[in-house]
Amino acid sequence: MAEPSTTSPPPPPPSTKSWADQAEEETNPSSTSAAEPSTPSLDELAIDDNNNPHKLLDDPDDSNIQAVTSGDTPYTSAATFEDLSLSPELLKGLYVEMKFQKPSKIQAISLPMILNPPHRDLIAQAHNGSGKTTCFVLGMLSRVDPNLQAPQALCICPTRELAIQNVEVLRKMGKYTGISSECAVPMDSRDSTPISKRAPIMAQVVIGTPGTIKKWMTYKKLGVTRLKILVFDEADQMLAEDGFKDDSLRIMKEIEKFNSNCQVLLFSATFNDTVKNFVTRIVEKKEHNKLFVKKEDLSLDAVKQYKVRCPDELAKIEVIRSYIFEIGENVGQTIIFVRTRNSAKMLHKALVDLGYEVTSIQGALEHEERDKIVKEFKDGLTQVLISTDVLARGFDQQQVNLVINYDLPLKYAAEYIRGRDPEPDFEVYLHRVGRAGRFGRKGAVFNLLCDERDEKLMSKIENHFGTHVKEVREKSVEDYKAALKEAGLLV
Ligand code: ADP
Ligand code: MG
Repeated sequence: MAEPSTTSPPPPPPSTKSWADQAEEETNPSSTSAAEPSTPSLDELAIDDNNNPHKLLDDPDDSNIQAVTSGDTPYTSAATFEDLSLSPELLKGLYVEMKFQKPSKIQAISLPMILNPPHRDLIAQAHNGSGKTTCFVLGMLSRVDPNLQAPQALCICPTRELAIQNVEVLRKMGKYTGISSECAVPMDSRDSTPISKRAPIMAQVVIGTPGTIKKWMTYKKLGVTRLKILVFDEADQMLAEDGFKDDSLRIMKEIEKFNSNCQVLLFSATFNDTVKNFVTRIVEKKEHNKLFVKKEDLSLDAVKQYKVRCPDELAKIEVIRSYIFEIGENVGQTIIFVRTRNSAKMLHKALVDLGYEVTSIQGALEHEERDKIVKEFKDGLTQVLISTDVLARGFDQQQVNLVINYDLPLKYAAEYIRGRDPEPDFEVYLHRVGRAGRFGRKGAVFNLLCDERDEKLMSKIENHFGTHVKEVREKSVEDYKAALKEAGLLV
């Protein structure tokens, strides 16, 4: 088993960024709330949910979002998409292509701030699955001048999977606008043209990962003089010391050099205190707006969390196979998260040897292989996907009802400090949980624990989010059934 334990020597820290194959954020164990901004009441921004006759889903409840606006611009929450003065082409995209009926809370609150002059910068935190993509995609599509063939909107994401997903959403939502887009992610096909030989980018919206975007900018193929809007999805990871802070800051500076009016949007479900303070400093220079959620309010009620105590690692595989897969057979798609690439390989082989059709994704795979595995899962051709944390954030597949934490996410640095208890990565945990229960759907998460270290990690997670994670007994069919029933996945 490749997973490091407290007694075996720790593996060497990885030398390069591994696209979220490991936890990538800082922690601030003290979690003081001293940095909480002063928070005017959101009542005037609240939207009335009671007049929605088609309440098939629980609304993703972002009612605890705290807004801090600067200056005296009054913003009114948008109860309908019409309230946002969107173009008819965009409205058609929302209703016909996306099949949306009305804005979610974060959309209702943030879109007026994004779309209306003076187009202030925005830091926006809202729950996983609450529809943040639509906020910035509509922002980009609305602010682009369709008659100007030059990059006007840029969105930077931590993984290729998320960049591709966001481009797909933008193309679908913007189908009737004629706005052009390009995905800036590395390709390993032998026939792909090297950037030095490519024509300059003409696409009006560019969405990609920081490495490729930086490269395109260095080669002067991606001009920034016409940029009106710069978006960071999963912004806390993009600006974390052990995430993509250097790249992100360099890109921001380069844009600022030519273009000081570019609106910056920072979106994520998580902003730990360290990142929050840093991010606030970045936008501080200009008047900006902020939307934050308290960490105790971040766990999704719609996704039920459970823990299973297993005597050893082998028992974890047995729990997955004989209990979770058996009892949860028809509950939808499942993602099993593992911490290391080796665990992904090992678990994949073990489940395939037992006759299960599973696929697995991790950062060491060829790019196109990664794309194929994700596509098969999104198309519903595969039911179970094993993943390292490459898919912990942002990945949106509504049919995912079950998440299994084969192991709990650890803070990177802490793992390598001898004699110190490893710290859980709270943010990655929350993002993993958030792969189920998209937009108010139901979901369940099983955390598999097998030693004292896991117990400690789990209780730290429970304390951090102020939630109680119920135990499901390892071999109790009734317990698994009860858990899935409680989660609304079994009748
Ligand atoms: P987040 O980035 O906040 O985690 P996403 O933007 O990925 O969430 O949205 C989650 C899901 O909710 C997506 O499948 C999206 O299509 C859906 N969704 C977003 N906004 C709406 C809406 N207004 N009405 C219905 N579904 C929506
Ligand atoms: Mg997202």
